[in-house]
Amino acid sequence: MKTLLALLIVGCTTVVFSQPNINNELKKDVSFLASDVLEGRNTGTKGELLAAGYIMGKFYELGLIPKGENGYLQEFFVKPKNNPHSRLKADTSVAISGRNIIGFIDNKAAKTIVIGAHYDHLGFGDEGSLYSGNDSIHNGADDNASGVASIIQLARILKDKNKSNNYLFIAFSGEEKGLWGSGWFVKHPTIELSTINYMINLDMVGRLGADLKLLVYGTGTSPVWNAALDATASGKFHLIRKESGVGPSDHMSFYLQDIPVLHFFTGQHDDYHKPTDDAEKVNVDGMVAIIQLIDAIITNLDGSDKLAFTKTKDEESEKAPKYSVTLGVIPDYMFEGEGMRIDGVKENQPAQLAGILKGDVVITMGEIPIKTMMDYVKSLSQFKKGDRTIVTILRNNKEKMAVKVQF
Ligand SMILES: [Zn+2]
Repeated sequence: MKTLLALLIVGCTTVVFSQPNINNELKKDVSFLASDVLEGRNTGTKGELLAAGYIMGKFYELGLIPKGENGYLQEFFVKPKNNPHSRLKADTSVAISGRNIIGFIDNKAAKTIVIGAHYDHLGFGDEGSLYSGNDSIHNGADDNASGVASIIQLARILKDKNKSNNYLFIAFSGEEKGLWGSGWFVKHPTIELSTINYMINLDMVGRLGADLKLLVYGTGTSPVWNAALDATASGKFHLIRKESGVGPSDHMSFYLQDIPVLHFFTGQHDDYHKPTDDAEKVNVDGMVAIIQLIDAIITNLDGSDKLAFTKTKDEESEKAPKYSVTLGVIPDYMFEGEGMRIDGVKENQPAQLAGILKGDVVITMGEIPIKTMMDYVKSLSQFKKGDRTIVTILRNNKEKMAVKVQF
């Protein structure tokens, strides 16, 4: 009996060992996707096509059902806009074609979880690069071979468990050019959008540090997220939660369709958008931990109803509205009354030229009422250089005056 038992155990162990090792798989996938052969996976290039072929091969190996428009592929066409930060001028008359890769696990459920990661990157860095040297291949190992390798392993894990949802895996292209692939998908969905339960985005998950800091965006997009994260991440990560569903990656395209989202991100680093974002710098153990966390969240929510969606106040745009004009004043940040109190007036700037004095409180700019500092900053974004407007101020706390300002 004992020998038989031992044999059985040996037998089982062999089976376990014949399963692909997740660390090795992640390392292999990141190394290939971030290799020079793929020339930085720029949308619409040969490198993008090679990466697409590799990912489709993985989806096929895992037995995912093709859910693009042509097998796993969903081709899209977008005319580029010229980006003021770009070194080269784009030809805006010709559309660039890119391709999303879409695979499905069909559990015959009524709702589907979308798990996505973009696989495109900056090519030779002529657009979006933060590198000032000569053109060189931007390998994008963390951004975002790490996310793509992770969704492949999530597909392997979720194939055989948690059957109360279907799973749609999407490797997006065109993300770096402005969320082209995810934007296209939500306009040309290959499953009914209303059946999507929630969307999980992995973009830059390859640099988990010793402090275990993991940023999670979109925690305000459903009332259940915080509890689900508490139940699964505590003690394993130092989570930094951001409520907003608006942010610079593909989850935003889904959030804007009223779908709850979470985006996982291990944070900025010196190699971001530079040729040095290379495979050997990726923390594979950290990626495994994040994959296990996402698996745990999905498991935690398996069997619950379709998640409720909540709109978030969009922290990013709240923080930094863009404006190109100035009144030329120093605001009083400590002022607690209504309006924007002026603590100082700069020489020869619009406010001084209009007769505005230190101590005045701005209460309207044009038609816009100014109650808070944010109202003031937002109102500035409505004007451009040369514009004229009427600014109402309160002087000495009693006199209301209207002054003409030219920016
Ligand atoms: Zn990215």
